[in-house]
Amino acid sequence: MKYQRPKGTADILPGESEKWQFVEQKARELFKKFRYQEMRTPIFENFEVFSRTSGETSDIVTKEMYDFFDKGERHITLRPEGTAGVVRSYVENKLYGPEIARPFKTYYIGPMFRYERPQSGRLREFHQIGVEAFGVDNPTLDVEVIAMAIELLKGFGLNSLKLALNTLGDQETRAAYRQALVDYLEPFEGELSDDSKERLHKNPLRVLDSKDEGDQKIVANAPSILDYLTDEAKVHFDTVKSLLDALGIEYTVDSNMVRGLDYYNHTIFEIMSDSKAFNGKWTTVCAGGRYNGLVEQLGGPETPGIGFGLGVERLLLILDAEKEAWKLNNDLDVYVVGIGEATNTESLKLVMSLRQQGLSAERDYLSKKPKSQFKQASKLHAAYTLTIGETELVNKKANLKNMATGEEVSVALADIYHDFKQLIK
Ligand code: ATP
Ligand code: MG
Repeated sequence: MKYQRPKGTADILPGESEKWQFVEQKARELFKKFRYQEMRTPIFENFEVFSRTSGETSDIVTKEMYDFFDKGERHITLRPEGTAGVVRSYVENKLYGPEIARPFKTYYIGPMFRYERPQSGRLREFHQIGVEAFGVDNPTLDVEVIAMAIELLKGFGLNSLKLALNTLGDQETRAAYRQALVDYLEPFEGELSDDSKERLHKNPLRVLDSKDEGDQKIVANAPSILDYLTDEAKVHFDTVKSLLDALGIEYTVDSNMVRGLDYYNHTIFEIMSDSKAFNGKWTTVCAGGRYNGLVEQLGGPETPGIGFGLGVERLLLILDAEKEAWKLNNDLDVYVVGIGEATNTESLKLVMSLRQQGLSAERDYLSKKPKSQFKQASKLHAAYTLTIGETELVNKKANLKNMATGEEVSVALADIYHDFKQLIK
């Protein structure tokens, strides 16, 4: 029997994993500057954490959940997204407490699971880098979160990006808009897709998010939520726009944009790329928005919140397509060439010592001939080789070669053990 990885999953192999580390490292560095701290929440949660928050009629809940009953009959879900778990944890650990500064700013990096039809940039196990900020309703924070997402993507050298912006307003806005939308859509009810028919009365805003082309044509002429904003919601949105202007961040307002999750209100945004990785088709890499009310939904006190999630696989697709070569540092500092069985112990001691001194070191374990050991050293892009044969062993010396210049010197083993870096200064 041949085993294969489950459909929609990927093995991240050496050569590829360095790219992941690079991306994650850059994100961590940026978040640190914005003073976001990492949270690591469970990869599975109780089913209700997601069913209550993502929305009963959302794709995530109706079609995409990896849920099961465990041996104790608990209804468990592999997390389809990061926010709900973070909010659950925020409430459970009382991170809204008086001694905790607001906004409470946090980020996460990790796998998410959705039962979807796998294709390029769409997997069943995928990864997100996400941030959340709690406790502040000020639109300045909305703009900072958006700006941070853009900085992150620009930091990878991505420039052809589009920021799509919209507002879902407050509850009053949505109630008024919902009615207007239903009034508009009802005459088309017979023409809508089955999913949209179902959503028309349960959750009409979801119809705007339909991927069905027929639905999209109908939706194109739907009333705009921007005409239903309350004064307060309008001020919030106008402030977001003028602060984006102040930072020189370009955006397009897309009044038909809703998100795949039901918990959003006020500001929502998507950052899209038309990279050749997606055949030039504008594809969302990063998406987020404000979710005032979500903390209460999971049993916490009234607390505004805002965040985004960025798809790591999609980012890597872009980087692979746009960047000729990745500058990833996996080069070797020192390769120890041991000639003859007798040098085995000393070679082992040398690589161990070099590693303890903070260098990367490699040797041969297969009793290979010197020539193929040197070949291996060049293949690994070793900066230096240290060669030790039986004569050197007796003299307590080794040959140090700078691979870039070809320069070779004899050095005392004692000096290598004492301070190798001094020798290569
Ligand atoms: P889509 O409309 O593409 O299905 P979504 O609205 O479901 O996206 P979000 O839940 O907002 O996506 O997730 C944020 C980001 O996570 C997406 O922009 C994308 O980069 C990534 N993402 C979402 N689902 C997947 C998936 N199945 N495989 C890979 N990446 C994904
Ligand atoms: Mg989706």
